[in-house]
Amino acid sequence: MKKKDIKKAEPKSKTLEGPYQSPKGMRDLEGNDYFAFQGFFEKAAEVALYYGFTPIETPVLEYEEVFERGVGQETEVVSKELYSLRTKSGDRLALRPEYTAGIMRAYLEHGMQSLPQPVMLYAFGSLYRHDKPQKGRYREFRTFDVEILGSEKSINDAITIKLFLAILAGVGLTDISLSLNSIGDKDCRPNYRRELINYYRKNLGKVCTDCVERFKTNPMRLLDCKSPECQEIKTGAPDSISYLCEQCKRHFKEVLEYLEALGIEYSIDHTLVRGLDYYTRTVFEVFQKQANLAPPSVGDPLTSGTGKLALGGGGRYDYLAKALGGNKPVPSVGFGMGVDRIIDLLDKSALVPRVIKKPKVFFIQLGTAAKLKSLSVIEILREAHVPVAHSISKDSLSSQLATAEKMNIPHTIILGQREVIDNTVIVRDMQNRSQKSVLLTELPQYIKGLAKK
Ligand code: AMP
Repeated sequence: MKKKDIKKAEPKSKTLEGPYQSPKGMRDLEGNDYFAFQGFFEKAAEVALYYGFTPIETPVLEYEEVFERGVGQETEVVSKELYSLRTKSGDRLALRPEYTAGIMRAYLEHGMQSLPQPVMLYAFGSLYRHDKPQKGRYREFRTFDVEILGSEKSINDAITIKLFLAILAGVGLTDISLSLNSIGDKDCRPNYRRELINYYRKNLGKVCTDCVERFKTNPMRLLDCKSPECQEIKTGAPDSISYLCEQCKRHFKEVLEYLEALGIEYSIDHTLVRGLDYYTRTVFEVFQKQANLAPPSVGDPLTSGTGKLALGGGGRYDYLAKALGGNKPVPSVGFGMGVDRIIDLLDKSALVPRVIKKPKVFFIQLGTAAKLKSLSVIEILREAHVPVAHSISKDSLSSQLATAEKMNIPHTIILGQREVIDNTVIVRDMQNRSQKSVLLTELPQYIKGLAKK
């Protein structure tokens, strides 16, 4: 092969700006950032478990059809933002842009209809949307997701909302607001849709080009438009609640009664429809009241046009199972919370995972025999659940002490030649520099005693 041909065969990636760069809109999580996510997921899972939910993990990849049929081919998430690929054997797969469709696929695949209903599941991990990256908006982002499948009872809508708020309160975020709407079902939504079309037909000259397109493909999504020029028209649009049938009205009234009984404040936003096809009846979104982040402007696509940051949202999706090919409807409700955005608002040190303990002691070894024995000493401490820091690859006392000082660890354990023979270590108080020889067998107890002082 000639040199010229090789060049042709390997086109240079357009987005790769350097050899050490993660893909645009995706980032590495390491150190305290990683722990903050781990800590958040731990706390969220704990709250969900107390409410009776059990975990599920679905694949990051699904057949593309799951999202086309479930989320909807006309949605931005599927038509513009889906990361799709064809495998070597010709399967069309896509990276999940949301959890719900994949979880419903799993429910149907595993015959969860035969379990006691409803089935209450939670999941967490990364989602992928080929979106325009900006503050609070990534192409790979993490959500905590909750679904109650197999019941149309309004109390489940209230449980999901309560759980959302309980998780936020559990991580110290209480300054939030809840927006709510009901978009009806297959019986009443067509009437509403007709009214909406009539209204927008009269105003087509005043809306953005995307809305002209939405008008043709999916008029409900006109209310989802975030473009500033469309906000006034949107606000004047007919509201879905006025068109609800008796059953939907009762269902929504019950949801509101549960929220009131729980003391949960809400406001009804008749422009809230959410971007995905599968929603029926209740839809909701949660915002932060006072954004610590630079406040996004009205019309910012992050904020549902409200000027507030959407921390998550959800709703009921009674027909998704049938859209995926199920033989009967599985009425369900759930939410997804945007963990990247939530963590941006929090003090990361409050999210330390359970397993991560601040080291109580710094271990120092001096000489070959001590180095040989050092891993056994660390193991004794680990077995006793005493977290220990060290710079074991170093040899000199002064450089090891300097690291201990830099890490601000109050006590060091020093293992020298003599201590190796005596089966002891020296425990040194870094503040007053006092030292004490302690038998190895008594070391864990001694360290635990120091921590209590
Ligand atoms: P959605 O179902 O699209 O409303 O997404 C649920 C939540 O995930 C949103 O309310 C956001 O908090 C979060 N989210 C959605 N898209 C992104 C993104 N591109 N980057 C970061 N968070 C996102």
